[in-house]
Amino acid sequence: MFDFAIVGGGIVGLSTGMALYEKYPNAKVLLIEKEERLAEHQTGHNSGVIHSGIYYKPGSFKARFAKKGSQSMTEFCQMHDIEHDICGKVIVATKSEELPLLDQLYKRGLENELAIQHITSGELKEIEPHVRGLAAIRVPMAGIVNYRQVSEKFGDIIRSKGGVIKLGTKVEKIYETDDEVTIETAKETFKARMVINCAGLHSDRVAKAAGYKTDMKIVPFRGEYFKLKPEKRHLVKHLIYPVPNPNFPFLGVHFTRMIGGEVDAGPNAVLSFKREGYKKTDFNLADFSEVMRYKGFWKLASKYMKEGMDEMARSFSKAKFVESLQELIPEIQESDLVPGPAGVRAQALKDDGGLVDDFHIILGKRSVHVCNAPSPAATASIEIGKEVVSQIPVQNHLLMATV
Ligand SMILES: Cc1cc2nc3c(=O)[nH]c(=O)nc-3n(C[C@H](O)[C@H](O)[C@H](O)COP(=O)(O)OP(=O)(O)OC[C@H]3O[C@@H](n4cnc5c(N)ncnc54)[C@H](O)[C@@H]3O)c2cc1C
Repeated sequence: MFDFAIVGGGIVGLSTGMALYEKYPNAKVLLIEKEERLAEHQTGHNSGVIHSGIYYKPGSFKARFAKKGSQSMTEFCQMHDIEHDICGKVIVATKSEELPLLDQLYKRGLENELAIQHITSGELKEIEPHVRGLAAIRVPMAGIVNYRQVSEKFGDIIRSKGGVIKLGTKVEKIYETDDEVTIETAKETFKARMVINCAGLHSDRVAKAAGYKTDMKIVPFRGEYFKLKPEKRHLVKHLIYPVPNPNFPFLGVHFTRMIGGEVDAGPNAVLSFKREGYKKTDFNLADFSEVMRYKGFWKLASKYMKEGMDEMARSFSKAKFVESLQELIPEIQESDLVPGPAGVRAQALKDDGGLVDDFHIILGKRSVHVCNAPSPAATASIEIGKEVVSQIPVQNHLLMATV
């Protein structure tokens, strides 16, 4: 019998495992991951940015955890010798109608108590000589890291404390009783006192497999990238972002220097026809028809039809993708870019068509379900893990034998 079983070996499941050992050093922790390697999905397919927290509503989990999480992530990397770079970023207004939005974002950053600077186009040129903009916000505390490397280290720490990580093991069904939880996988059955669902793109399905009906569903949005050819990397010195559409949870295509020296341009945000569909041609009938049958999706689609179509067009036309990038760096040409990887975001959508903006955790009898952990959850992972552990119902951990 384990004290805690975590479903999902992405950065959130792994940080939760670490947080459990911080709070309960004698606990028996099991982490179950369906893939043969940790961090195979969102965590291993992201932009690798350590976000500062500027974008998020003051007081939200996202705002608080991004700010605190970027500090704890940086300290963790320093302590464990994980390559990272606090290189800073700029958010650039390229059109006059974006200036009020840039001002609002600046105010929000100040409300979130971030040390940011509003800079002129001349100051921007000194930081990013190839970027054209009317004004910008400089965010010095943003940085980059490889979240796969961070996740591997989290996994090493869990194992070093006695935790068990089962790879290649898919959780199929979860049964809770008053005293224990039974977790059935395709290979074996486990017993635990508490189960914690950190299944990312499948978190709604794992919640359902445990008997919990939520008023939300995960809708997968693919983010596609191009890479700058090595001889053009000099065009990007740090991280360069547009002013985001305030109604959308995604940040707009941007330039990201990666650990290792490459420069990625993207990601866009298109509906994926498969939850783990990394290619445009990937299609899964069950995943697709689930979205098509979901009333929440149609409510969202009718509201954002134009934005959705524009994103689709940009996905199929490199020229359109490059047009968006040229707004930031006019000298970029199609020939400077080669196709890069893609990631799929797990975005929770409510029955009423509303996007779940903040991190969202629900509590079961003997389970905790992390139902929405979109960006900046990699940045914030250490803080999310602590929060999940703090939400474990007190009456349940009092029942535990070993903790
Ligand atoms: C394109 C893109 C760019 C992003 N950029 C950034 C960024 O720059 N900075 C940032 O902070 N965040 C970024 N994010 C967000 C960040 O990557 C995610 O929020 C974070 O990785 C979520 O971690 P997770 O552990 O919840 O999910 P995941 O990493 O998806 O992990 C969930 C795990 O659960 C496993 N699983 C699912 N079902 C089962 C089952 N039934 N049984 C066993 N295992 C199961 C999966 O195989 C998977 O490994 C980005 C995301 C994307 C997609």
